[in-house]
Amino acid sequence: MTSIDPALQHAYKEVLRRNPGESEFHQAVEEVLGSLGPVIQRHPHYLAERVIERLCEPERQIIFRVPWTDDHGQVQINRGFRVEYSSVLGPYKGGLRFHPSVLLGTVKFLGFEQIFKNALTGMPIGGGKGGSDFDPKGRSDTEIMRFCQSFMTELYRHLGEYTDVPAGDIGVGGREIGYLFGQYKRITNRYEAGVLTGKGIAWGGSQARTEATGYGTVYFADQMVQHAGSSLDGLDVVVSGSGNVAIYAIEKVTELGGRVLACSDSSGYVVDEKGIDLELLKDIKEERRERIKVYADERDGATFVEGGRIWDVSAQIALPCATQNELDEDAATAMVKGGVKVVAEGANMPCTPGAVKVFQDAEILFGPGKAANAGGVATSALEMQQNASRDSWSFEYTDARLEEIMRGIHESCRKMSEDYDRPGDYVFGANAAGFVRVADSMLALGVI
Ligand code: NDP
Repeated sequence: MTSIDPALQHAYKEVLRRNPGESEFHQAVEEVLGSLGPVIQRHPHYLAERVIERLCEPERQIIFRVPWTDDHGQVQINRGFRVEYSSVLGPYKGGLRFHPSVLLGTVKFLGFEQIFKNALTGMPIGGGKGGSDFDPKGRSDTEIMRFCQSFMTELYRHLGEYTDVPAGDIGVGGREIGYLFGQYKRITNRYEAGVLTGKGIAWGGSQARTEATGYGTVYFADQMVQHAGSSLDGLDVVVSGSGNVAIYAIEKVTELGGRVLACSDSSGYVVDEKGIDLELLKDIKEERRERIKVYADERDGATFVEGGRIWDVSAQIALPCATQNELDEDAATAMVKGGVKVVAEGANMPCTPGAVKVFQDAEILFGPGKAANAGGVATSALEMQQNASRDSWSFEYTDARLEEIMRGIHESCRKMSEDYDRPGDYVFGANAAGFVRVADSMLALGVI
């Protein structure tokens, strides 16, 4: 808490008191408040208007039971969540996560981050997040469908293209969005395509949405590298995870001439000195839904390390793309020794505060998730635009818009950090730029 300006400490203490045990939420709030000291010193009216306190309290939190029947006829009970965090800039927008670790505090941390991320995109979208402690691993397609149908049977009443528009996140990809959308359509008797994003291309989805978060992270990293006078071409890269974000980050790095040496899942990591074979990885993860070890079994020269720490593989660029707090202070120290130059977060809050401090102290360029991975939600907003105008754009056009948006986010962070005499501090730049847009809009709308 020492990094938080004294003027903000009361607000932070109230967050701790009112949200006991929600350590990830505390961490996310501390991270943002830790940046805002200089901003409120320059603009004290944010304090007087209690903008911080307002932003630390979600507009609405929904918790519900999700009963469903498994393939053996056994009734299963999960818990569903939707935290509608802030609608100052537009309808609540943010993904759904299905993972056994999901608690209310997880969804609140993600929803809080989402507000500022969405603000950074410059698009008219508020912040929200949702999910369930349902574990999709090892479940059949029909079990996934029944779970999604039950989940939507409760959630649908809170959604709408002008109200709340979920998308995917960990454990929720195109298959799950399909089942969720099918149930929404059936209950409401409305083909309201703009109520969910991440849809299949044939039924209202956007080209490049699947690729957007991973591509966007690499566009952002590329901007960081270019501003440091270099290029991704020929650099070694480590990407953690092997899900949606990781796979398309690997694809874009490879396209830009980088070599991805390693990727992972929760069972361990693989190292492939020839560079990850993307077709094989996609087949294993997207088609066969198998574990990462299979990659090493089927690729000459690749090795699998069970458990272990992917960050021990040295590279100039690191893209953590799996989950929160996957990269700690020890790992960061090893990476600095190994010669890392740029870290960009494809996942949400993958680096612990200790890790971020190690990178910043060593003057490693560090791109926080709320800026670096905003390409996914930005392309979701593009999907909403296409749905609203009953249009569909080409892959090339959508990808070009994504790249332009990522350059814009990079520029906002850069300008804000320079304006406050902190050049190269992307954490400050992202937090301050996102906050100022939300805070000014909030004040314009009155006491809400
Ligand atoms: P996926 O479910 O597609 O992939 C997640 C990957 O991370 C898998 O390889 C998974 O391994 C691994 N993983 C998940 N949990 C853990 C854990 N506890 N320990 C180790 N590895 C883990 O999710 P996404 O790729 O969509 O999301 C990844 C990250 O990116 C998340 O932080 C998400 O919030 C963030 N993000 C995603 C966006 C999107 O558009 N999808 C947008 C912005 C951010 P395993 O299969 O073994 O569990």
